[in-house]
Amino acid sequence: MKANMMKAAYLPGNREVILKEVAIPEPGHGEVLIKMKASTICGSDIRAIYREHLGKGPEAYQNKICGHEPCGQIVKCGPGLRRFKENDRVIIYHISGCGVCNNCRRGYMISCTNEKYRRAYGWQRDGGMAEYILAEEKDLVALPDSLTYADGAQVACGFGTVYEGLEKIGISGNHTVLVVGLGPVGLASCMLAKAMGANKVIGVDTVQERLGIALEKGLVNDGFLSDEEALSKILAATSAHGVERAVDCSGNTHGRQLAIRATREWGKIVFIGEGGTVEFNPSPDMLHGQKTIFGSWVTSIWKMEILVENLVKWGIHPESLITNRFDLDHVTEAYELMDKGRCGKVGIFFDEELK
Ligand SMILES: [Zn+2]
Ligand SMILES: [Zn+2]
Repeated sequence: MKANMMKAAYLPGNREVILKEVAIPEPGHGEVLIKMKASTICGSDIRAIYREHLGKGPEAYQNKICGHEPCGQIVKCGPGLRRFKENDRVIIYHISGCGVCNNCRRGYMISCTNEKYRRAYGWQRDGGMAEYILAEEKDLVALPDSLTYADGAQVACGFGTVYEGLEKIGISGNHTVLVVGLGPVGLASCMLAKAMGANKVIGVDTVQERLGIALEKGLVNDGFLSDEEALSKILAATSAHGVERAVDCSGNTHGRQLAIRATREWGKIVFIGEGGTVEFNPSPDMLHGQKTIFGSWVTSIWKMEILVENLVKWGIHPESLITNRFDLDHVTEAYELMDKGRCGKVGIFFDEELK
């Protein structure tokens, strides 16, 4: 391969991954070139791009280099940088916004309203499944020395999303927290809920392997298979009260029903899992129990910075949820494994992170 070329992965749909050789980009004003170190696979990639191109609007994949959970080291700086420099270790907040709409000014570039300038890495602009990535300085979050690049990749999307959702419902030692759906986002919810002080965490999933991972890693106090008995088991585990806080990561109507019905009076529920539908009976399920349901989409860049700071304080490592590491040459196998869902987090790693 020529010196100025790199390998990069694309998702044409139909469960295919294509590796191409493309030119290493040059950073322009306010931009940096980052040597990729860790690039994990998100459930959204599988749902909206890998199987088939389902996404519309902000989820419309425009045949760019895939991967929106990038973390690496700055190797080249364009002119006009204000904070970051060569050799800095950085997480990329995975949506580049216009910077001047109201949501961008709040730090929620995920909700940027400018159609021309809102471009997500791995969707509408090149992402992390390549040897290098070009990023804007304003999208960077500094990665502390005590966190690994794999930790950082986990924060870029999944852990950031979870932290936002948990902050919305508020978690403390007063709370038993139910997490429905134990894919990577669900496992992250269990881990952060405990770190934020939850007194007990209960996990539920339809897949035995995922339940097994949550129990083995000590992320849940109780784990139940999601079946007709799940609700009565949760009630039995909470002295018949139900949980104070519930997090839906399943995106499934039955999962969401369980999250709502297993929540006690005055409790709070947050929906993080994407897609699907939900059907419930507002009066008995919600109104009469004085319950509140929140919706949450990704997070703000300032909250991502606080999360990174807190991870160091709490002494926890999101990378512990990664079950399978592949190099870029095996990117096809990585997506195949993630698609089957009988695993924890899967990713592509480089250099010292390839262990
Ligand atoms: Zn994601
Ligand atoms: Zn904007």
